[in-house]
Amino acid sequence: MKAQPSKHLGFTYIPGTVDVMIHVSSAFDGGNIEVVSANEADDIQLRIRKDNASEFFQWFYFRVSGAREKPCRIRIVNAGEASYADGFRDYKACMSEDLRDWCRVDTSYDGIELTINYKPSSDSFYIAFFAPYSLDQQRRFVARCQQNSLASLEVIGQTVEGRDLDLLVIGSPGTSKKICWAIARQHPGETMGCFWMEGFLNLLLDPVDTVASKVRESAVFYVVPNMNPDGSARGNLRTNAAGANLNREWAKPSKSRSPEVFAVRNRMVETGVDFCLDVHGDEIIPYNFISGADHVPSADARMKQLLIDFNKALLHSSPDFQTDHGYPTSFQANLSICASNVAESFKCLSMTLEMPFADHNNRKDNIHGWSPERCRELGGDCLKAISSIIPSLR
Ligand SMILES: [Zn+2]
Repeated sequence: MKAQPSKHLGFTYIPGTVDVMIHVSSAFDGGNIEVVSANEADDIQLRIRKDNASEFFQWFYFRVSGAREKPCRIRIVNAGEASYADGFRDYKACMSEDLRDWCRVDTSYDGIELTINYKPSSDSFYIAFFAPYSLDQQRRFVARCQQNSLASLEVIGQTVEGRDLDLLVIGSPGTSKKICWAIARQHPGETMGCFWMEGFLNLLLDPVDTVASKVRESAVFYVVPNMNPDGSARGNLRTNAAGANLNREWAKPSKSRSPEVFAVRNRMVETGVDFCLDVHGDEIIPYNFISGADHVPSADARMKQLLIDFNKALLHSSPDFQTDHGYPTSFQANLSICASNVAESFKCLSMTLEMPFADHNNRKDNIHGWSPERCRELGGDCLKAISSIIPSLR
């Protein structure tokens, strides 16, 4: 039945007769997608946008509205050209209708296109490469941390676009105390780093937990929960607003091109470093793993042993860690990478932690895959592993 014009109002509304239009949007914090066509729910064609000043792309995050109870078939038509396209094999996209819980939905990849099938029970739903973590969430978390009397906040610089770069300091420095650094999200698409930070800092700031108390007695922690706020806001995969891949800027950070690394590295020189953990996500490898820096030019027996000891301790504290899969050691020779640069500069234990986008294959979760909750768990478990090696760090 069609709505007929009313004599008095110009139209008559008859409920259920207006066909709601499908609409796809990414105009929000961290959003990334371009619409090719979205006329029918079962034929939505999209493209992932490149980082704003570089060729990298793979992060996607968008909302589909107007499709309640309609089977949606979403094709990302340029998936096969993405920076780490092999990561789409055996991968399932993340979906949320309430922006709180994220689960995995039916996804397939044919080497060219990524196809996502989903029938929403709400008027709109969100799809993302991994559960997103907005700058608003980030600010709220940092604000909550600084309310804890064990923490203080330093703004150590500004990003290319003028956003604050936050450093949380936990514990007070003392001559015998070890200096530990943890940073995350140099690559903005790797949102798992921010969830890891929540678990890590929640435990570190727990006033009564025995592990946390012991750690705070013997170490002071310098923590940067988000190294790349500009790239995060823009929905970039890998670079900041100037197109710099921050984890290739550590040999010669530039005040104009990579002020984020410039500020953090300067603060590290002031504090000294006994331990550094740089937290990432890997698009392809479906496991959590550590990439050490025990092959930098000046690595000695002590540094190599510390890496072995940390891996052992993390295997003990986390059911979601393994040491069989990871990067080849040649990866570590590159001194423009944070972990290698810090190891070489400070002769300390310095590592990259990688988490998967899809799942940790040694302990699969078919509903959620690798999830924010498990990132938080791993964050706490990493602190437990750190606690066992602190005495031998210097
Ligand atoms: Zn990364």
